[in-house]
Amino acid sequence: MRWENERRSDNIEDRRGSGRQQGFGRLPIPKGKVGAVLLIVVLVAGYYGVDLTPLLNGEIPQQVQTQGQIQTKASPQEERMANFTAAALGMTEDLWQSEFRKLGKNYQAPKLVLYTGQTSTACGYGQAAMGPFYCPADYKVYIDLSFYNDMKRNLGGGGDFAQGYVIAHEVGHHIQNLLGVNQQVREMQSRVNKKQANQLSVKQELQADCFAGIWGKYVQDKGLMEVGDFESAMNTASAIGDDRLQQQSGGRVVPDSFTHGTSKERQAWFNKGFTTGSIQACNTFN
Ligand SMILES: [Zn+2]
Repeated sequence: MRWENERRSDNIEDRRGSGRQQGFGRLPIPKGKVGAVLLIVVLVAGYYGVDLTPLLNGEIPQQVQTQGQIQTKASPQEERMANFTAAALGMTEDLWQSEFRKLGKNYQAPKLVLYTGQTSTACGYGQAAMGPFYCPADYKVYIDLSFYNDMKRNLGGGGDFAQGYVIAHEVGHHIQNLLGVNQQVREMQSRVNKKQANQLSVKQELQADCFAGIWGKYVQDKGLMEVGDFESAMNTASAIGDDRLQQQSGGRVVPDSFTHGTSKERQAWFNKGFTTGSIQACNTFN
């Protein structure tokens, strides 16, 4: 994917290394409501915010091990990944601004927080081991850039387009938040049993994949795609399907406990967004 000449988003909050922390590292929580607020946000994170959680189970990221050491300078390679992330986010902004305009709505872009190891969010404490996630309570996407290395090593080979798919998937959750899908799913989940609630979570995840596919089409229409890009996203979708993850962890595949969808489903919905470019076509709830 040719991203180097693309606009970098300004909506980046860089919290990498305590020496370079910008803005607020700790979110203000109203006094007296702390317990209730934390409980709610943790529940929300459990349902909607935290992605790919099982991916890195059993593997302790280096950042956590070296926690406490102040990282003062990022490597050129890491800076390149930060730049890439800002470019990929910028593309989601241009895409969704235009899509929301078609719906007669204003697009409120999310912030993307770069952090190292762990960070506080309105959805509770975020850790690199969770993988990238979206917190609907503060409208922010969180990513530790070391995740890109994990993708390369363990999750289908990585590559910039595949990394963009992951960013676009998290932004997809933001789109769901703006469109009211999050809230509708939560309401439906409160009325059904755990198995059905899980199925609703799967549908929500697959819709985020479909929205990521719309981003993929946008990249293609801009003429930025390169040979092998689409396949790299498919490899990632396959590698992070819940069935694959369960098999790898040595467990039996138990479909009812799926929360993200199978490898095939994730590929199919990314592909649906990619071929149609249509929000309506991404109705995974039908
Ligand atoms: Zn997700």
